[in-house]
Amino acid sequence: MQDQLVFETIRYERPSEKVARIMLSRPEVRNAQNTQLLYELDAALDAAMQDDEVGVVIIGADGPHFSSGHDLKPGGGGIGDYGPPKMGVGGFRQPGQEGHMAHEQEVFLGFCWRWRNMPKPTIASVQGKAIAGGLMLIWPFDLIVAADNAQFSDPVVTFGVNGVEYFAHAWEVGARKAKEMLFTGESIGAVEAKELGMVNRIVRLEDLEDETLKLAEKIADQPSMGLKLAKMSVNQSLDAQGFYSALQSAFGVHHLGHANMRIVHESAVEPTGANKIKDQARADKPKTIETAG
Ligand code: ZN
Repeated sequence: MQDQLVFETIRYERPSEKVARIMLSRPEVRNAQNTQLLYELDAALDAAMQDDEVGVVIIGADGPHFSSGHDLKPGGGGIGDYGPPKMGVGGFRQPGQEGHMAHEQEVFLGFCWRWRNMPKPTIASVQGKAIAGGLMLIWPFDLIVAADNAQFSDPVVTFGVNGVEYFAHAWEVGARKAKEMLFTGESIGAVEAKELGMVNRIVRLEDLEDETLKLAEKIADQPSMGLKLAKMSVNQSLDAQGFYSALQSAFGVHHLGHANMRIVHESAVEPTGANKIKDQARADKPKTIETAG
């Protein structure tokens, strides 16, 4: 089965008997996520879920940074190029906001929701920067192990929208911090992220791979049914509090933002936003254990 798992933008590995590891593998563009990467990640997760020998799945990234977010450059294909749409959405080529919204319903909000509800424990293993869309490759997963140089940010208010499409900010870091990170675009370092309850463990960068694998192996020794039920129960606790409805509501507001920008600037995002975000990312130095307050 593993022989068939050949991808171009990710790698599917089996570092130990009961653990699968999916590595984002576009380090030359800081693992910017294009449509191909998202479909390949989705397919790899599906494969891991269908393989009864796999108990836990790690999602990691090659290179110094976890992910710089959405790939804003053209290329990487479109919906339908990597198999049929998965989320029951249509109208991808419709003009106006309709096609754009369908695209984001499929590969952003839809995939994140699918991944969040997959039946086996998943662990994101994060180093360096995770910017905007990068958070959508972390937050849907169950546990987060962060290297001490990890930084999490969502600066897309600069684009004239509310935040990334999987709008879990208030659930991940609390309402007040969510507003601060969105209003300022500033990053949250690993130490602060752990204090906020967003990160489970912080390890030194050089230990990230080993420590994440050790945690995965420990969990993978538990009965799969117990793990599945525990995951479902925690997820349902959040759903009972309105998590799903809140995500859908914020997604609608997100598309109000895109539609407004189309009217004002004839662009789905504020045209100067990309450069401002790049400048801010460059100026944003790592907040390591030593330098964090
Ligand atoms: Zn969007």
